[in-house]
Amino acid sequence: MKPGFGGNYHTHTHHCDGNGEPQDYAESAISKGMKWLGFSGHNVLPFPTDWTMPEKNLESYRREVREAAARNAGRIEIFLGIEADYIPGVSSPVHPRIRDLGWDFIIGSVHFAAPAGGDHSWTVDGSGDEFDAGLHRVYGGDVRALVERYYALVAEMAAEAKPDIIGHFDVVKKNNRNADYFREDEPWYRAAVLSALEAVARSGSVVEINTGGIVRNTSGAFYPSEWILREARGMGIPTMVNADAHRPQDIDGCFDQAAALLRGVGYSSQRQLTSAGWMDVPLPE
Ligand SMILES: [Zn+2]
Ligand SMILES: [Zn+2]
Repeated sequence: MKPGFGGNYHTHTHHCDGNGEPQDYAESAISKGMKWLGFSGHNVLPFPTDWTMPEKNLESYRREVREAAARNAGRIEIFLGIEADYIPGVSSPVHPRIRDLGWDFIIGSVHFAAPAGGDHSWTVDGSGDEFDAGLHRVYGGDVRALVERYYALVAEMAAEAKPDIIGHFDVVKKNNRNADYFREDEPWYRAAVLSALEAVARSGSVVEINTGGIVRNTSGAFYPSEWILREARGMGIPTMVNADAHRPQDIDGCFDQAAALLRGVGYSSQRQLTSAGWMDVPLPE
């Protein structure tokens, strides 16, 4: 990572499905010259999963992030955040159960894309086999119906909850590595994406460029795709580079590549949270 990069605000510790303590991430970020570090544990959901935060970890997560902030004061600024799921009627970045705890920032993410009142045992960003099984069980194999529902939920979340950051905007493509399910230049796909982006432009939320799919080689692609970032730039949507780190050493994974991509579509700065509030900081050259 080039010097002067800024920060990372998408970080998972062992309190949810990541590895390492907040202090391990703080040391990694400091060693790489970062100025800001945000933690974004997966929220507690009212049903069990193997990746969200169990209720019993919530308090220790919040306490340990605050302790790391105090312990590293003067070396790095640390922020306490959450990656909140959007599931209509069940979970939202503005659900009192989440919002009222108080956070420095909130990432809003859609992982569950069942039809209204549907099956929440399945997420769009699981393994290839899980994705395929869910697509057939829940949508009868109709990938267009699933994808359109996914982007409708992203749009709804942006409008209702206005999260600070939209997590991995097009993660529904995770298992579409070789256009196995759809092509991104199909008119229906572009229309679904653009209408969600328009909702995000109205919400004022930041669209992150999330490097996790390349760093962990789960999709081989950044979220979102380059053409979507170009459209986002055209709509004046702010951006930021985030790692979705699940290990301390991945805290700046592929950041230089992501910054070059952002510059290529016309961005010259990224939005960062600092002790003085949100600021636009130049992307490194
Ligand atoms: Zn996520
Ligand atoms: Zn995440």
